[in-house]
Amino acid sequence: MAEETLFSKIIRREIPADILYQDELVTAFRDIAPQAPTHILIIPNHLIPTTNDVKASDELALGRMMTVAAKLAAEEGIAEDGYRLIMNCNKYGGQEVYHIHLHLVGGKPLGRMIG
Ligand code: IMP
Repeated sequence: MAEETLFSKIIRREIPADILYQDELVTAFRDIAPQAPTHILIIPNHLIPTTNDVKASDELALGRMMTVAAKLAAEEGIAEDGYRLIMNCNKYGGQEVYHIHLHLVGGKPLGRMIG
């Protein structure tokens, strides 16, 4: 059984966070240490520690994370110029919080990361 992280407490509103969106599947809130003018984390409400742990039964929540990312990008006014969606996995991927999260980062040119 995977250990809960502080993100579960944010979902349950036990610790403060700037929550922008929440439904029965996902929660989105502003990153506490933003790397760009817009930096939002979109997470499943149930604990999936890493992308290695994703199962077919998670597909609805994972799909919802994408539609919420598109909705929030539009609301933040960054959709047209563009943005980056990132999920880090484990040590080499730079993952710090073991509850998967989609980083929505934008509002400035981000440069090329790959290629
Ligand atoms: P990771 O490196 O992909 O695991 O990203 C973890 C992210 O969670 C980092 O960008 C942190 O700034 C962010 N973070 C950690 N604690 C909090 C919090 O309490 N509220 C919002 N964001 C947080």
